[in-house]
Amino acid sequence: MASETLALRNGWVVTQNPKREIVKADVLIENGRIASIGKVGNADETIDAKGCAVIPGLINAHTHISMTLMRGIADDVNLEKFLEKTFRVDALRTPEDIKAGAELGAVEMLRSGCTSFVDMYYGQDVIAEAVDESGIRGFLGWVVLDEKFTTQKGSPLKNCEAFIDKHSGRERIHPLVALQGVYVCSEDTLLGARKLAEKKDTLLHIHLSETRKEVYDHQASTGKRPGDWLYDIGFLSERLLAAHCAWLTMGEIRKLAERGVSAAHCPVSNMKLASGFEAPVPEMQSNGIAVGLGTDGCSSQNRLDMWGEMKTCALLHKVQRLDAAVMPAQRVFDMATIEGARALKIEKELGSIEVGKTADMAVIDLRHPAMVPTFRENLISNLVYSCQGDCVRDTLVNGKPVVLDGKFTTLDRDAVVERAQIIGEKFFN
Ligand SMILES: [Zn+2]
Repeated sequence: MASETLALRNGWVVTQNPKREIVKADVLIENGRIASIGKVGNADETIDAKGCAVIPGLINAHTHISMTLMRGIADDVNLEKFLEKTFRVDALRTPEDIKAGAELGAVEMLRSGCTSFVDMYYGQDVIAEAVDESGIRGFLGWVVLDEKFTTQKGSPLKNCEAFIDKHSGRERIHPLVALQGVYVCSEDTLLGARKLAEKKDTLLHIHLSETRKEVYDHQASTGKRPGDWLYDIGFLSERLLAAHCAWLTMGEIRKLAERGVSAAHCPVSNMKLASGFEAPVPEMQSNGIAVGLGTDGCSSQNRLDMWGEMKTCALLHKVQRLDAAVMPAQRVFDMATIEGARALKIEKELGSIEVGKTADMAVIDLRHPAMVPTFRENLISNLVYSCQGDCVRDTLVNGKPVVLDGKFTTLDRDAVVERAQIIGEKFFN
């Protein structure tokens, strides 16, 4: 159990509040929430954050956590070959394998300061167990697709509904409706999913315009690009978080913006699969779309590393536009924190360190060689361009320390790693 009050003392607090203030202060956590920021008196427990930055927990806006066990088994091939390989392995997986993959993913993310992730998969029941036990926060989307394309038993939509019913109202588990993509989802399936999300008051999550092939195939079968078609059938809504959005036109961007859709940008996955060379992120942002950052699954990204994702995001847009100012560090850090929260419609709860919000935070060692020298003026730059996972010292979710001084207080890290290695070998062979 978390103690009633916990003080993080003397850190540089990167608030990510509307003024983006960075203050030297203590943070008091009471019953999982941020109670005050400033000079804090007595507390039941104290974490000394001197020489450290205290940041909002990072939000991974799109992944498939259990695919950690497919790390490195389908590299250096295009998307078609990649899917062929990963689907073959996927068909072999047991619920125990899925859970072991989720535990490994939770360890990797929590150890590197990521406190929330959005997941798209089937078998979310066992992923929810791993979320529960690890202490991470999961936005878990059960995948819905046309019945003729799925290996799920029964109706994917009904399975999704049962999953939502079982887990709604839980503290760190946020169930939602996920859709694989327009290439395996009919109009009926999409609108059924939208209706379910409305009925259950959850988010909707989909892969959208990830590859050129997806766009061309959809145009060939419907006469419309995916974004235009989804607008016309009445699928787009403010509940929707669309991953990738790599091949959107300006017309599609305006339609997404008009309907309040948000996006999850996955630059490393798009680059590695050579599927989408540069999503129009600056254009989405200038149209008011909330864009978060996602790693995608380990079969395509290989890591659940939000630090690498941030740096790659900045570099990709700069090099594509030959403009070093197009994606500044502050904007990228926003995407991993408060804009990620806005993309999940949960910015009143998460994404910044402000009084009243949920205490999801990470403590970064500013004396790590990769972070020196740091001062207020270059702190955000150092976080985006220099920081790496092992600069993270402590991670807190719901005010509870899940990682302290690099050590887990929840899972047995070594046991998780051993289990994952054994199962991974089975897939590899
Ligand atoms: Zn994905």
